[in-house]
Amino acid sequence: MPALQPIDSDAPPPCRDCGAPAAGPCATCHAMICADCGALTGGAVKKVVVCQRCDAQGRGTVGWRAWVPIVAPILLGVLGLLIVTQLLRSC
Ligand SMILES: [Zn+2]
Ligand SMILES: [Zn+2]
Repeated sequence: MPALQPIDSDAPPPCRDCGAPAAGPCATCHAMICADCGALTGGAVKKVVVCQRCDAQGRGTVGWRAWVPIVAPILLGVLGLLIVTQLLRSC
């Protein structure tokens, strides 16, 4: 396989984002990332390292979805209160 580049098994693979020696793979996309480019995320029990791209995506989607079950009942309650007060005023 002459097309493959020789891989030095002693040297860590380069970080995808900055080219520095990578500390480990991203938990989401498995790209090799260094400690500076990786972000520690996850719960209190299990910590995982993800790249900044996946971290931004995760915060954008998972964070919003996590808030929906909390915010939705509050919004519905406020909406219901507004309707009730409007109905009471109109009487
Ligand atoms: Zn890096
Ligand atoms: Zn990633």
